Amino acid sequence: MIIFVGRSNVGKSTLIFRLTGKYVKRGKRPGITRKPIEIGWRGKTIVDMPGFGFMSGVPKYIQEKIKTEIVQFIENNADKIETAVLVIDGKSALEIIERWEKRGEIPIDVEFFQFLQELEIPIIVAVNKMDKIKNLNLTINRLIEKFGLLGTWEDYKDIFVPISAKFGTNIQELRKLIEKNIKKSQELHE
Ligand code: GDP
Repeated sequence: MIIFVGRSNVGKSTLIFRLTGKYVKRGKRPGITRKPIEIGWRGKTIVDMPGFGFMSGVPKYIQEKIKTEIVQFIENNADKIETAVLVIDGKSALEIIERWEKRGEIPIDVEFFQFLQELEIPIIVAVNKMDKIKNLNLTINRLIEKFGLLGTWEDYKDIFVPISAKFGTNIQELRKLIEKNIKKSQELHE
């Protein structure tokens, strides 16, 4: 099982479409079911988690409920999840993370990253919308620091991969990382 998590609007459904050719788009209207969507892909199950965090028109308590449901799904399926892909919007992620930090809160992306680490689920951070990022190295190095890791991108080439879901850039690299994690996870469970 491969899970995709991320805030709403980061380009998660565009990415899943790129990777699998399958359409997972949800209705934008609040109140519409926001359950995990499972699709089959090359003999695997891909799970598209509902987008978390702020969504215009969605009340705070619903956002919290979505977050709790995602956490529960991941906890319940931890031993089946071979890799998680955390999709972030490379253009706005740093700004949003810093805004949360200033309020003394743990940014939701950072929280999910650390949660997945605690469960020992291999993580890939897909830094999407790279077409809009000016200084890629600097951006990824800063993100690494925000995620609580020591070192630079050089040390985390297997975790942080810049992509453009919309334009199809670096999708092959991401696919390779996913396959690498699946292999590793299978070896561990043998
Ligand atoms: P989701 O809510 O995370 O599933 O996000 P969507 O896949 O619906 O994408 C949200 C918006 O971001 C759409 O307008 C996409 O066209 C746009 N988008 C997705 N990927 C990229 C990208 O790589 N670059 C740019 N510039 N826009 C993107």
